[in-house]
Amino acid sequence: MTKLTIEDMAIFCKKKGFVYPNSEIYGGFSGFWDYGHLGVELKNNIKNEWWKYHVQSREDIVGIDGSIITHPKVWEASGHVESFQDIMLACPKCKEKIRADHFIQEKLQVNVEGHKAEEINSIIKKNKLKCPKCSSDFEDTQQFNLMFKTNVGPKEDKSPIAYLRPETAQLMFADFKLVVDNARLKLPFGIAQAGRAFRNEISPRDFLFRSREFEQMEIEYFAHPEQTNKCPFINEIIDTELNFYSAEMQQKNKKPVKMEVKDALNQRLISEWHAYWLSTEQNWFTNLGAKAENFRVRQHLREEKSHYALDTWDLEYNFPFGWKELQGIANRTDFDLKQHMKFSGKDLSIFDEETKKKIVPHVIAEPSLGVDRSFLVFMFDAYEYDKKRENVVLKLHPKLAPVKVGVFPLVSNKLEIVKKAREVYDLLKNEFNCRYDCSGSIGRRYARADEEGTFLGCTTDFDTLKDESVTLRHRDTTEQIRIKIDELKETIRKLINNELKFEEAGKLVK
Ligand code: ATP
Repeated sequence: MTKLTIEDMAIFCKKKGFVYPNSEIYGGFSGFWDYGHLGVELKNNIKNEWWKYHVQSREDIVGIDGSIITHPKVWEASGHVESFQDIMLACPKCKEKIRADHFIQEKLQVNVEGHKAEEINSIIKKNKLKCPKCSSDFEDTQQFNLMFKTNVGPKEDKSPIAYLRPETAQLMFADFKLVVDNARLKLPFGIAQAGRAFRNEISPRDFLFRSREFEQMEIEYFAHPEQTNKCPFINEIIDTELNFYSAEMQQKNKKPVKMEVKDALNQRLISEWHAYWLSTEQNWFTNLGAKAENFRVRQHLREEKSHYALDTWDLEYNFPFGWKELQGIANRTDFDLKQHMKFSGKDLSIFDEETKKKIVPHVIAEPSLGVDRSFLVFMFDAYEYDKKRENVVLKLHPKLAPVKVGVFPLVSNKLEIVKKAREVYDLLKNEFNCRYDCSGSIGRRYARADEEGTFLGCTTDFDTLKDESVTLRHRDTTEQIRIKIDELKETIRKLINNELKFEEAGKLVK
């Protein structure tokens, strides 16, 4: 089968109820998407799994949930008001507007992220690049700030300008002292936040990959300023294999190299903290069913790096439109805390018990992940067309599957069998997201459930009336087992958590 394109995925998502174009009845709204009845479940499961793994199961990270609109000074201190901008190419004739670095990358295959407007102008002129829609010459480039502005308070003309946050990150710094004191955090520690972010992207595209409203899951991970080299958890991930693409490899036109973290550390390819966070993040994806071969870790080139970042690596995924950033992990040093100290006049340093001195911790890593890009990753890696079944099987990890169990009466014209299926549904629905379905043939219902990623099918039939047992069908293999109704809940729980093999959970039906 030819590789699924991003357009195919958008069509599939719309057809099955995962994602719709926003306000389609009004012609849609570029850069905005609505999650449907299955999409919202998958997205919530992704966010819950992320929170469990990164916050609840760790002693060193706590979460917060800050407001979306915040004091405008926060964005002055962070540097967003002044420099959160992209360079725009505008066509004077057809009014087309394009993000300059993406256009140049596409046309000339060179990475110009971080280049100045004059450099972009000269590249455009030198290579005679024209408007892709009407072939006119572009106007000189313009800087375009990506933050959405709004007013706060009832008087529009006099009220202060505020911004919709372009990232979730800054409140981990603004609330830093409160969180550290109340949660009694000791270095190294992290503060996590997940939620909506807004960017007025010049050219939103590639379905959910680049939109104007999206969600992020971010951590600011702080270390002692004198202990930035050693990561105390390095042994947990030392054997993880990553596909490394360092700045040097890119400059020398070499290919990425797969190696274990311990070898990369020996070769001084990467710092311990970066290796730790990149591995931890890739493992989160692969533990939830994503395919390791579709990931690589790419170091930013010098000119690409933000001015405050000491080192940045992206976790990239092999999307149908190329290797692209899924998550950025920057070492931001003490830049942010110091900026907020400067702009607020408040002391955000903490007391170091060992040296009895005040210190400003370093953000040794800021793993910053997009929920919607993660959604795409899980969908692409789960999607399979099954030739024998002649339908798509969405092999999502059971923890992510929008619906865990589809409950079906084998036939819908036999009252007792329907009644039993209803009983089973009522038994399960409080613990698992279940779907009761009695319309169409049983084969059709299984196919529908496969395409929606439903992990298990549970069918009541004539035997159920005799012995209180049901058939449980596995989505990925179509294998079936027979199991007693009173064992169902516990068995399904274990199957979702991978504590039990399906073949061992009941009597295999031949
Ligand atoms: P890009 O270079 O692709 O524009 P970025 O470097 O600006 O991304 P960050 O500021 O590092 O992105 O944001 C962290 C993460 O948030 C990204 O890795 C991505 O997963 C997600 N993200 C950023 N912008 C968007 C967007 N417009 N739509 C969807 N997700 C986004």
